Amino acid sequence: SSCSTGYYRVQIMGAHGVGKTALENRFMSSEYMSSSEVIIDEFDENTLTVVVDNEESTMEFIDFSSVENDELPADAYVVVFSVHDSDSFTIAEGFLHYLRNELDSDRPIILVANKIDLVRKRQITKEEARQLAKEFDCKYIETSAVLNHKVDELLVGILKQIQLKLNPE
Ligand code: GDP
Repeated sequence: SSCSTGYYRVQIMGAHGVGKTALENRFMSSEYMSSSEVIIDEFDENTLTVVVDNEESTMEFIDFSSVENDELPADAYVVVFSVHDSDSFTIAEGFLHYLRNELDSDRPIILVANKIDLVRKRQITKEEARQLAKEFDCKYIETSAVLNHKVDELLVGILKQIQLKLNPE
């Protein structure tokens, strides 16, 4: 039997059309992930439970728009841009600036470069994006929601970052 280790709120941010909904839908439908020790146990609308090494963690995904005046800060932030849309990269940078400099948050942030399947239309290079992630002390990952590429890794990565923050080694 597993024990509950936590309930975490994860806020997904990014420009319109970058794939936030598509990524969330992938999270919610990944019943059994490629990594064998991770099982999606149960889920309802915006909440899913992940079991890693017999430890249960529940993650709730919240939209930026539904947050009531920073009343409760999230446990982690996922800032998404699309690699074929340089405006969305500028908007992502704005969110990072807001979180780190205005909210003064030290919570984990994952910068997500989505739509990497659009290879020929790519406008933002890996180097540029990594540089931005480094500047704001974020993890960086490249995904494709349509190909389901690295989406499980993103989900587990979010949880890992939250747990690392709570229990630094
Ligand atoms: P949101 O506004 O950020 O929630 O964006 P959506 O999830 O609604 O996605 C906007 C559009 O981009 C939809 O037509 C999606 O099918 C498409 N889309 C999302 N992720 C990807 C991806 O990884 N690759 C490609 N090619 N299209 C994607």
